[in-house]
Amino acid sequence: MTAMTSEALRTLASTPRLLVALDFDGTVADFVDDPYSARVIPEAAEPIARLRDLNNTWVAFVSGRPLNSLARVTEADEHALLVGSHGAEARLGGGVVDLGLDDDERHRLFELAVSLAEVVDRTPGAVLEHKPFGYGVHTRNVAADAVPRMLADARHAAERIGGFLDRDGKDILEFAVRDTTKGDGVELLRQHLGATGVLFVGDDVTDEDGFAAMHAGDIGLKVGAGATAALYRVADPRGVAEVLRKLVEKRAALAVGQGA
Ligand SMILES: [Mg+2]
Repeated sequence: MTAMTSEALRTLASTPRLLVALDFDGTVADFVDDPYSARVIPEAAEPIARLRDLNNTWVAFVSGRPLNSLARVTEADEHALLVGSHGAEARLGGGVVDLGLDDDERHRLFELAVSLAEVVDRTPGAVLEHKPFGYGVHTRNVAADAVPRMLADARHAAERIGGFLDRDGKDILEFAVRDTTKGDGVELLRQHLGATGVLFVGDDVTDEDGFAAMHAGDIGLKVGAGATAALYRVADPRGVAEVLRKLVEKRAALAVGQGA
């Protein structure tokens, strides 16, 4: 972490209403083969719990996972702030923001499912995941030389039906009928909470929309390698945990100062 990050963290720690918005996979949890067994690493769980205990401070998860999946792996309670499906679904402290599909969207999703199932069936190791607003084609267990062909076939299938937003992620290509992004998710949370400062952390290409939604004084933190619009970077989830620990310590110290 650079000295500049330390200064930026100090400024953010003093904001009246702080939102800490975290991607989940690869950001506060390590990648695992069974997506439902992923959990926040203990080093990050501790500062997250301490941040939640502070006044005027909120921690939210903003993920590409469907809301139900995100709630399960984060072991969410009724107060949890969760944004799933890249901003298309949200649970804001008990209130579910329900964005139902219309008939046309449902029809196009059905056609997409049939076409993608054919592509996946002829590609050993490929897995098709149903998402609330689309489908994901997982390539983690596909032979490397078979991946480009499968992805091209999948894109072609989606283009034939039309009207899908496609997203490249780590070992996944997704198609969605809604063009929401993680930036929309961050904005939803910012407005819901009246946040005056935001820390957004993510590791994947789709998190770039979250970094683009940062305002002056906010912090975008990129995890791992790759081009990014974020101003700051850490290597892995343990690096994220370290930043969260510093943030909670600075903010807790300020609260003590204000109370004295
Ligand atoms: Mg991620």
